[in-house]
Amino acid sequence: MALPRYDTKPKYGSKVLVCGTPDYERCRCMNPTADTPKRYPREIHVVESPTDVSAALKRASELGVTVGIRSSGHIMNLGNLIQDGILIDTVNLNRKIDYDPVTREICFGPSCRVEELAEKLGEVKRFFPHGHAPTVGSGGFMLAGGQGWFVRGWGATSQTWIMKMEIVVPDGRILIASRTENQELFWAARGSGLGFFGVVTRFWGRTIRASNMWERTFKFEVGDKYEELMTWTIERGRDTPKYGTDLNITIDYLEKYDPRYTTDDVPSGAKLHMNLNLLCYTDTLREAHTLLSAYDKMPDSIRDSLLEMKPVQRRTFEEVFNRKRGFLGNGKTERWQINSIMNDPACPLPRLIEAIKSAMLELPTRTSSVFICHCDIVPDEEDAALSLPQDLYISTITGWTDPKLEPGIYQPMRDHYRRAFPVAVGQYVTELDVNNDDANTRVLSDSALAKFLKIREKYDPQGLFPNYKKFIKAHDKMNKLENKHML
Ligand SMILES: Cc1cc2nc3c(=O)[nH]c(=O)nc-3n(C[C@H](O)[C@H](O)[C@H](O)COP(=O)(O)OP(=O)(O)OC[C@H]3O[C@@H](n4cnc5c(N)ncnc54)[C@H](O)[C@@H]3O)c2cc1C
Repeated sequence: MALPRYDTKPKYGSKVLVCGTPDYERCRCMNPTADTPKRYPREIHVVESPTDVSAALKRASELGVTVGIRSSGHIMNLGNLIQDGILIDTVNLNRKIDYDPVTREICFGPSCRVEELAEKLGEVKRFFPHGHAPTVGSGGFMLAGGQGWFVRGWGATSQTWIMKMEIVVPDGRILIASRTENQELFWAARGSGLGFFGVVTRFWGRTIRASNMWERTFKFEVGDKYEELMTWTIERGRDTPKYGTDLNITIDYLEKYDPRYTTDDVPSGAKLHMNLNLLCYTDTLREAHTLLSAYDKMPDSIRDSLLEMKPVQRRTFEEVFNRKRGFLGNGKTERWQINSIMNDPACPLPRLIEAIKSAMLELPTRTSSVFICHCDIVPDEEDAALSLPQDLYISTITGWTDPKLEPGIYQPMRDHYRRAFPVAVGQYVTELDVNNDDANTRVLSDSALAKFLKIREKYDPQGLFPNYKKFIKAHDKMNKLENKHML
């Protein structure tokens, strides 16, 4: 059967899809990556209400199987597809965004996409830091913490902006979690990502007055200037005020989007480019110039590698989304793996740059790319499970289309990232690979993990939600590696 094109609003004939039917298979493969593994849940519940979620959880309990949840399918290794388990698909659950002009909060369901939130916020002239890519769902993004727009100053979206969640817990109760109600649940739901033990059915988030987005860009040829370019770029990012700025670095081949190339091979003579997309959110052009002015001066050695520079100009969310839209789910042939670390803020920059060098420069295919952003997230472990400092989020996306490259294609980048463990505090929980432990590292602090596991045991003693086991495995591995290193 041909793979279905990725659709953010698919329609199915029934709410419970049974293995072996065409709707079931279409739904199972409704992921942005074409690399849907051969894992077949026993049933897929396309839930429409919290009560449907309770019924799906009851069904899993009765069958004695485990549960996976999908809001948009953007986690590439698809740990939500559990052989013989139950997949809960939230695509039709509270799929609307309400704005309350009195509380100035927005309320939305877990499958509401970034572009849907942006549209609604535009209508009511408010801002809320949703994700950067148009089709990402709210469920997994918010549970992971959420590196939302302009994250640097105000922290992760679920840390600072989410006020309340409606959650169906494993025994089927529908609970409200906030800082004053079911606090433990609220704590655990913000930062545990795919390890969480419930189904979030609604979020409430505060908003602020909308302002204007501005962007300044630079493009460099990397050549033999990797160290100088990385040092200058990261240092200038650190000089840039945090509030209202969103600083992104990508490295890729110019041929990545060139329609003349159709294979995964890196064309001979292809050169790596580093792009800086520096955005800010403020009322006037004058303010934007000031916010992004740390990049005004550059040493001659860097200037020699400069290919293009665009001055500060107005941007809209729609323009940014359109640039990213080509990346995922188009034509259903692209396959992706994402590896990442968050650096140890105490590690000197030259050591960090050296340790990640191979992950930045040895891109295995034409469409692979590096993405780094200044997150500057300072955790508050008392308040949320999100507990690792996120200074820089450093990632590499391996992209390919030819299935024959599997499974070998996964390994090089896992190895590069494993080599970067000594300079990392851990990784963003969304990139924990449920299929292979090699590049997995800590996703929470050890103390936050211990607290999370206690709360989890209370709510989910039967273990309906199994992915937390991967956290334990990764933490044990890292503790062993570090103990060995101390000997
Ligand atoms: C192109 C792209 C751009 C991205 N941009 C950003 C970004 O700007 N900032 C950022 O922080 N992250 C970003 N991410 C990472 C993204 O936030 C995660 O992949 C996130 O998990 C996606 O959530 P989802 O619900 O859309 O995906 P899904 O794959 O559907 O869900 C991921 C996991 O979250 C859990 N989950 C999902 N919904 C629920 C729910 N309702 N209740 C309980 N558990 C649930 C499940 O365990 C599931 O396995 C990006 C990813 C991609 C591929």
